[in-house]
Amino acid sequence: MQDVLSSLIQGIGQGQITVVDLTQLLNANTPILELPEQWGQTIPFKLKEISRYDDRGPGWYWNNFETGEHTGTHLDSPSHWVTGKDRDTVDTIPPSSLIGPAVVINMTEECNQNPDALLTPEHLLDWESRHGQIPTGAWVLARTNWSSRFADADSYKNLGTDGMSHVPGISKEAADFMTQQRDVLGVGVETVGTDAGLAGTFDPPFPNHNIMHGAGRMGLTSLTNLDQLPEAGAVVIALPL
Ligand code: MN
Repeated sequence: MQDVLSSLIQGIGQGQITVVDLTQLLNANTPILELPEQWGQTIPFKLKEISRYDDRGPGWYWNNFETGEHTGTHLDSPSHWVTGKDRDTVDTIPPSSLIGPAVVINMTEECNQNPDALLTPEHLLDWESRHGQIPTGAWVLARTNWSSRFADADSYKNLGTDGMSHVPGISKEAADFMTQQRDVLGVGVETVGTDAGLAGTFDPPFPNHNIMHGAGRMGLTSLTNLDQLPEAGAVVIALPL
């Protein structure tokens, strides 16, 4: 084991292992989820300066911040959805359960054509035909290139003329497959949530939240830089705030 850790540190130090930051910058422009108006709403991120080498504190710079816990790149714990309400909160998830192999599903072309595209079992089986079975404890990452829209909240939300948000997501069938036929830690997406923009109209509504969290699995949202990962071979270390 000592050898494994030494090789890891050596690999990182010598550049044989590349470390990729999958997180988006958190600031006042970070796109946030907006729910229908009858529901409670999350607040935009706010940074409040405490002092900056000035009368309020001559030798130091620091800030307070105010934000929703569901803002920017974040971890969806199982207990964040009603089907998982008796399961783990972010603080009770064992840290070892936040680290797992990355299974990167490239849906970029498809999402360019159709913003409502869903990750299906066929995508997962196609990946498996090249790399073998999805390993136990994997993070399945939907690479959609949606992160390229992050700086433009309107484009990220992609409201259609029907008033609905057209954003890719995870199908019910894929969530069933990943929790019943395979044993994943969870899914990661480049969009604001793990479910599609139209998922409120699906059966069940928000199937990925419903199924994944009900089965004690997690979600990672607003990821970026997935294009820097190989389809197989990377490891995700998910560090929640
Ligand atoms: Mn969520």
